[in-house]
Amino acid sequence: GMKSLSRSLLYRCNTKHNPGLGPRLATLLVLALSHTAIAEWIGDARPMMGTEVSVYLWSDDPEAGREALEEVFNEASRIDHLMSTYKDASEISKINREAAERPIVISSELFGLIQRSLDISVLTRGAFDITYDSVGQHYDFRAQQRPDTATVEAERQLINYRLVRLEQASGTIFFEREGVRINLGGIAKGYVVERGIDLLRQRGIENAIVTAGGDSRLLGDRRGRPWMVGVRDPRADHEVAISVPLADEAISTSGDYERYFEEDGIRYHHIIKPSTGAPAEGVHSATVFGPDAVITDALSTSVFVMGVDRGLSLIGTLPDYESIVIDASGRMFYSDGLTQPGAQNVESSER
Ligand code: ADP
Ligand code: MG
Repeated sequence: GMKSLSRSLLYRCNTKHNPGLGPRLATLLVLALSHTAIAEWIGDARPMMGTEVSVYLWSDDPEAGREALEEVFNEASRIDHLMSTYKDASEISKINREAAERPIVISSELFGLIQRSLDISVLTRGAFDITYDSVGQHYDFRAQQRPDTATVEAERQLINYRLVRLEQASGTIFFEREGVRINLGGIAKGYVVERGIDLLRQRGIENAIVTAGGDSRLLGDRRGRPWMVGVRDPRADHEVAISVPLADEAISTSGDYERYFEEDGIRYHHIIKPSTGAPAEGVHSATVFGPDAVITDALSTSVFVMGVDRGLSLIGTLPDYESIVIDASGRMFYSDGLTQPGAQNVESSER
């Protein structure tokens, strides 16, 4: 059924690119700021976490606004240093080195995010699985390297979130098999965005957007009107496939165009289907929006893996979350809550 009127306002949007934001963003923010307001919107975008982190906020006091921006970027950097598998000194790298030998004590922050990841694995029946990295580690998208069939066959046996044991009482993590690895790439950006918005809210800021790669969280509205968040056309850089009016919500897009290379006409991209160990097929992009960016991040990756039918069925069971999926032929599909009143079927708008 209908969840809110604004959810039925989805419309096709021909807005071309927004030059202020990096082309690698999965979700383009369409900032149509009024001329009178522009002086007090403050923003910045910086390359971080292998993508771009951006912050836009409304502040009556530009000095305080700048400080708030810095605080969010510092927080993103702190989280990256905790959770990046590319940094040997990160806590996640230490876990991957040691947790198969013995249970190791980890920070409550990482414990909490790993716990949430495992919960989402249960919810998605393993479509979302942070142990995908036993296969994922063998990809280097910049160098166009991928694991051979034998490596995939061997390593995919280690993709199984049930091999990760968290023990609340001792605050420890343990991997039940040698070779298990975890990677929070499918949820950490949502966490950055969620933390960033928390910090801004604590400073009394009431209107803001924090974005990390394909994950955004909106604080308040665009001063009287909803933010219009554009979902990128997965096969046309800078083009917006559809725009969604949102306020006080999170939105995440997972796409097969973020990190990939092509070989013999096959696109090898960064979202791994745990059951096969290969890049998930059938979907070009999956967008999820709802109250919590950690959840929308993990669910957009999950819906991408699960495909149109299973993915949208799952979203249909979650009252606060909605989804827009663009399949491999470019057709667009919406979750039930986005269906307009009286309309049987608003999906499958052909491009
Ligand atoms: P991005 O914003 O980088 O596009 P996504 O939310 O689309 O991120 O998640 C993709 C990332 O999630 C990959 O780069 C990888 O780190 C991680 N990942 C890939 N496959 C899975 C999976 N099946 N379960 C959980 N995480 C995954
Ligand atoms: Mg995601």
